[in-house]
Amino acid sequence: MGPEVENFESAISDVTGSECFVVSSGTAALHCAYAAIELKPGDEVITPPLTFIATQSTAMHFGAKIVFCDVKESTGLLDPEKVEALITPRTKAVTVVDYAGHPGDIDELRLITEKHGIYLIEDASHSLGSKYKGKPVGGLADLTTFSFFPTKNITTAEGGAVSGDNPVLLDKARKFGRQGMIKEPKRFRNQVDGPWHQEVHALGLNYRLPDVLAVLGTSQLERIDNFKKSRELIFQYYESSLSRNEFFVLPSKEHFVEPNWHLYPLRVPKAIRKNLFDFLRASDILVQVNYVPAYFHPVFSELDYPRGLCPIAEDYYWREISLPMHPNVSDEDLETVVAKLNEFVKYA
Ligand SMILES: *Cc1c(COP(=O)(O)O)cnc(C)c1O
Repeated sequence: MGPEVENFESAISDVTGSECFVVSSGTAALHCAYAAIELKPGDEVITPPLTFIATQSTAMHFGAKIVFCDVKESTGLLDPEKVEALITPRTKAVTVVDYAGHPGDIDELRLITEKHGIYLIEDASHSLGSKYKGKPVGGLADLTTFSFFPTKNITTAEGGAVSGDNPVLLDKARKFGRQGMIKEPKRFRNQVDGPWHQEVHALGLNYRLPDVLAVLGTSQLERIDNFKKSRELIFQYYESSLSRNEFFVLPSKEHFVEPNWHLYPLRVPKAIRKNLFDFLRASDILVQVNYVPAYFHPVFSELDYPRGLCPIAEDYYWREISLPMHPNVSDEDLETVVAKLNEFVKYA
């Protein structure tokens, strides 16, 4: 920790318009957010299954029970219309995931979480730089978490951040990621023995981001507008090249968002997905599948989360294939990807 961490934090705040602190990963950021809302054993957290497992695992470390809610067929985002029916007296939070970089349905979710007096957490690992109704992602939910893993919109090799406009919540989250250490004299409970005095009131962990990685983050952030533009151009290229083919369902976008696209989640018929994936990989096109529904992992299925729980997310998974989407995909690469896709479906 040093001056570069503060520089990086203020550069992130310039993008998000909200206060933040940085941590060592997106997983750490989620862990800090759940600590801040004082998640306890038996509390329930509503999440979509179409995400990386850290959205859930970090809540489960506090003993929370995960309640899976299905996603919308169009965007793959948590479906607000299905959230309310899952709320019980034990529900503590709803965590929305900005799948592919497209912000979740924040206004609808806010209405629900405010009505029930519970928290809204936004796992924005995919969406740094995205906007929702003109407002940047970062201050839309009670707490927002980011990841700076190399595949994400900007990177610090490993890293993450927590942001939000509620200073009490944000400070609790920060303390958790800094060993719970309190250094503000006005908050001391013990007698002060000397200038070295510091206190721990609640347990935390070491989730600090090194200064050397913060420098990388700051330099990455200087380029975020260009990254966003490149990703947008790739999105448009795929859209215009693939939209006429009946085999493909293209990702949809609400008119009121401005995503910093992290993924290009194409959907194809379930029966050809695996072969298409293998064919593209064999052609050196590094496609991926995002994501295996979280409750397919044995850590859940062995706890009695049956298949079929969220049929729309499962169908999304069986048909999904993520096409190359990053600022260094060249025009030639894009042409190759589209040519290979067309070649495959011609014989499918
Ligand atoms: C990447 C990611 C995380 C975890 O971030 P790390 O930096 O890899 O720990 C959490 N949630 C989602 C949706 C992610 O994509």
